[in-house]
Amino acid sequence: MSKVEERPFIPFARADIGDDEINEVVAALRSGWLTMGPRTKQFEEDFSKYTGAGHSIAVNSATSGLFLLAHALGWGPGDEIITTPLTFAASANILVHTGARPVFADVARDGWSLDPEQVAAKKTAKTRGAVVVHYAGAAADVAGIERALGAGKTIVEDCAHAVGTRYPDGTHVGTKHPAAFSFYATKNVTTGEGGMMTVADEAFADRLRSLRLHGISRDAWKRYSKEGTWYYEVLEHGYKMNMTDVNAAMGLHQLRKAEAFNRRRREICTRYDEAFADLPLERPTWVSTPNAAAHLYPILVDDPKRRDGLIEGLLARNIGTSVHFIPLHLQPAFQKNFGYKRGDFPNAEHFYDRTVSLPLYPIMTDEDIGRVIDGVRELLA
Ligand SMILES: *Cc1c(COP(=O)(O)O)cnc(C)c1O
Repeated sequence: MSKVEERPFIPFARADIGDDEINEVVAALRSGWLTMGPRTKQFEEDFSKYTGAGHSIAVNSATSGLFLLAHALGWGPGDEIITTPLTFAASANILVHTGARPVFADVARDGWSLDPEQVAAKKTAKTRGAVVVHYAGAAADVAGIERALGAGKTIVEDCAHAVGTRYPDGTHVGTKHPAAFSFYATKNVTTGEGGMMTVADEAFADRLRSLRLHGISRDAWKRYSKEGTWYYEVLEHGYKMNMTDVNAAMGLHQLRKAEAFNRRRREICTRYDEAFADLPLERPTWVSTPNAAAHLYPILVDDPKRRDGLIEGLLARNIGTSVHFIPLHLQPAFQKNFGYKRGDFPNAEHFYDRTVSLPLYPIMTDEDIGRVIDGVRELLA
């Protein structure tokens, strides 16, 4: 473009942080209780109430939560865990850290999440379970993956995109299997950095609570508050992955707005769907169905060069975009350590080569949405 874009930059993602969050963070700071304490406990209780999970355990990221689940399930050397290549590094890096082997299976052409048939094809005598990602906030076919894995296997749900996502039966994702949610800065509900594990079993929840804090038998805030005592025991070699009350302060108010946030996200998706109906692109109409949290709006164009041109053209119009995801089997570390190569997962590569995720967040103005629509139309029509 010859004309220099003078309108302000529209970022790919931006959190909606209101006075409620700001005042609660200030209150947490003034309270003198900075690390895990009463606000974290309240956030956990609120999260269980919102999702219907038996137990919610707050951590410093979804990555930490996924790792602690994999570790507590006893996944390790000699085990194979099936997961999608079309995900963020976290979903598979956590497996490597336990010593287990990440075995990728291709995604479905429709919905972009793990394809149960591909999962069945990757099953071996060493398969212990799967990490299932609810891509873009649309529920993956977990029932199909359960059948594909067969009896005696464990599923961990990567719910990083999925605060507010429901299964077809209306129950919240992360309630049928151990799961971890993300409150990273770009996610639907944010604490800046943070995550939440959800599990049904009380003994398993107690173990996770201990593992997030050095394997210590009682939470720190109970130790140092009035009702606590100085004595504690290190029951096993745990980690340092707890949430802080400063982060939880944000989460308390973000969570109350989750349904309104997701409604607005679905509205924006619908505007995109309508505006792009006549363009030569595939629209992700599945991300804004009523049970989906509409975390991403990944369009597909017909040709990789046009995709690159679209990203550049939008950037020249001061519009940020992203790509979800660079498949993990194309990443150097996974190629070097596990022998993956291009050609292994054709559907994941098809999406990667042709996709662009457009800006999608509740505080986009109608003008922002209009600029994105006009940009895409000018570049693709
Ligand atoms: C963001 C993300 C994660 C990691 O979340 P953190 O809270 O940043 O650790 C894991 N999986 C997927 C699919 C993600 O998008």
